[in-house]
Amino acid sequence: MIAFIIFGVRGVRSTMNEGQFFCPQCAGPRSYKHKKVTTFFTLYFIPLIPLGRKGDYVECQSCKNTFVQRVLELEVEESRPTTQAAPVDQSPASAGRVEIPVESGAGSISLAATQNASNEDFLSEKQKAIKKLLIMMILADGRVEDAEIHMFHKVYRQTADKVVGDIYREIELVKNENLSPKEYLKGVAALLNDEGKEAIIRSSMMIAASDGDIDDSEVEMIHQFGKALDMSSAQVKLAMQI
Ligand SMILES: [Zn+2]
Repeated sequence: MIAFIIFGVRGVRSTMNEGQFFCPQCAGPRSYKHKKVTTFFTLYFIPLIPLGRKGDYVECQSCKNTFVQRVLELEVEESRPTTQAAPVDQSPASAGRVEIPVESGAGSISLAATQNASNEDFLSEKQKAIKKLLIMMILADGRVEDAEIHMFHKVYRQTADKVVGDIYREIELVKNENLSPKEYLKGVAALLNDEGKEAIIRSSMMIAASDGDIDDSEVEMIHQFGKALDMSSAQVKLAMQI
């Protein structure tokens, strides 16, 4: 009889704290969970020894988008104390706050004026990753065609529920970073929940399918994306069924 010892490493999520926050995607106050991802040494698929923290994210319990921790610094409008009346000649919005426009015109959000925030910070990690990966796929053959741009807008709107204003600027940014899709996805895996990872696989599948068929090399490439995202192959296969 041959005995196999099955071991490996895997990310395990746990909730550090929870509460109410301003969700940029829902554009309103929502419940959140702040989760951390810890790498564990596993034996027979059971996590045994923690090897260190991989990352953390804030997850909206309504839309399931995940954000960097700084999203918790956004004011929850409804929780602002009403006893502190603003001077009559000053609107509450001008009292130490600036209005930051949100991509896709989903209104505006209030931030402390001292924060040096950009719109990009408050896209969810899923939205950032889908945008970047789709652009990397467009750039793969070295040419940017109108049909690809058209397809990008369609897929991004459908899977990220957002629109991109200046796609050519975004393409330049991705070009300058000069990262491979696998390197990039490995770096963001611990900032995403399962819903986010599945949406990324689904959107890459839609781009691959846009020329009429999906060949074996494209299927293999998408499996590599899933692996970089720390997904099981069963999870990738399920997400590919669009
Ligand atoms: Zn939300």
